[in-house]
Amino acid sequence: MGSIQALPGTRDILPNEVGYWQNVEAIARQILTRAAYQEIRPPIFERTELFERGIGEATDVVGKEMYTFNDRATPPRSVTLRPEGTAGVVRAFIENSLYAAGGVQRIWYTGPMFRYERPQAGRQRQFHQLGVEVIGSADPRADAEVIAIATDILKTLGLSNLNLDLNSVGNPDDRQQYREALVNYLTPYKDELDKDSQERLTRNPMRILDSKDKRTQEIAANAPSILDYLGSDSKRHFEQVKQLLSDLGISYKLNPRLVRGLDYYTHTAFEIQSDDLGAQATVCGGGRYDGLVEELGGAKTPAVGWAIGLERLILLLQQLSQPPRQALDFYVVSKGEAAESQALKLAQKLRQAGFAVELDLSGSAFGKQFKRADRSGAVACLVLGDAEAEQQTVNLKWLKSKEQEAIAQADLLEKAEDLRRQIAHIQQAD
Ligand code: ATP
Ligand code: MG
Repeated sequence: MGSIQALPGTRDILPNEVGYWQNVEAIARQILTRAAYQEIRPPIFERTELFERGIGEATDVVGKEMYTFNDRATPPRSVTLRPEGTAGVVRAFIENSLYAAGGVQRIWYTGPMFRYERPQAGRQRQFHQLGVEVIGSADPRADAEVIAIATDILKTLGLSNLNLDLNSVGNPDDRQQYREALVNYLTPYKDELDKDSQERLTRNPMRILDSKDKRTQEIAANAPSILDYLGSDSKRHFEQVKQLLSDLGISYKLNPRLVRGLDYYTHTAFEIQSDDLGAQATVCGGGRYDGLVEELGGAKTPAVGWAIGLERLILLLQQLSQPPRQALDFYVVSKGEAAESQALKLAQKLRQAGFAVELDLSGSAFGKQFKRADRSGAVACLVLGDAEAEQQTVNLKWLKSKEQEAIAQADLLEKAEDLRRQIAHIQQAD
């Protein structure tokens, strides 16, 4: 029988690369915690209707990318694997009355998302996002704060060559005016637009600006700019966001073709791109969505957020450095029945005392075990053979200097502090 393979567009994050993921999560968690963001963990599948309303039926995501199926309920019920995080977070916000706490909710999440797309580098069917949502503030400082935090996370991870594209999509009134102007401009080109864009001309014309088709992009390049259609409130908000970003030392490029084409997206829209990624250059996308909470049945509540695509982020990190490795203190080598059983006990004691310890289980010759010890990255090796077992000792061998000493097993833990210092010293020197 043949072996079973993972589905296209999914992949295993293997032990030798998981260090990148853990590092990203640790740094993000630290930066977000310092800014008083709290983690939320909503379910991975939801009622299909949540995404239809929360993302919009006229979008690609809802129109053709969702993993949607009936579960086993009677009468039939349509459920969907979440294609993004915001809709679920906002549902949780409403359902659990998080607004009752008053003030501003600062929330972050991370986890897998599902979209039926054509798999390619940086584009998968199961991919991962890290996202934030600030719910309950219309203040332009909230827009600036979330952008600053995204920038901080990416910079702390060591990324450079990043570009921030910034736009305002105004409020629904501004957009009504703009939409008319856009449709007037695009209609004469209708036959030259890609098929999806032709459809969008009536349903959701602003999404045409986001088309990946080359000819459509050429046409869109000369389209009227939304920035010329902003009313005075929208203009003021946008001016403030730009000023705050400048005050924070964050540079940006205005991109009037950057859109979130739905009614409940408002004001600020932004993307962070990397010069070091190929076609899939956008690492982070976000913006303000003052209409969404209400659209999903809550009270009118302003909000702003973003999502980072973790696969794309990690593609960038892989170009920069080796994956961080788990530090190992001791590698335990043993041979012979009594020695092997003592080694297991010793390894457990050391682990309980806070050391990272790998136990060689192979039972192979000492020489082979020593080779594995060298490759393991451990600082020191603990060796037990028949003689050590007999005398209840262990041979401690520092792998770099090759120095060794015999220690009574009973004394090893008493020396724990000493050993910890020595190990830290050697690790720092590396
Ligand atoms: P794109 O234009 O690349 O399809 P998008 O507008 O659909 O992106 P968002 O919904 O804004 O993307 O999601 C935020 C981020 O999540 C993207 O900037 C990207 O980094 C990542 N992302 C989106 N879809 C995928 C996918 N299929 N595979 C991997 N990462 C993805
Ligand atoms: Mg997409």
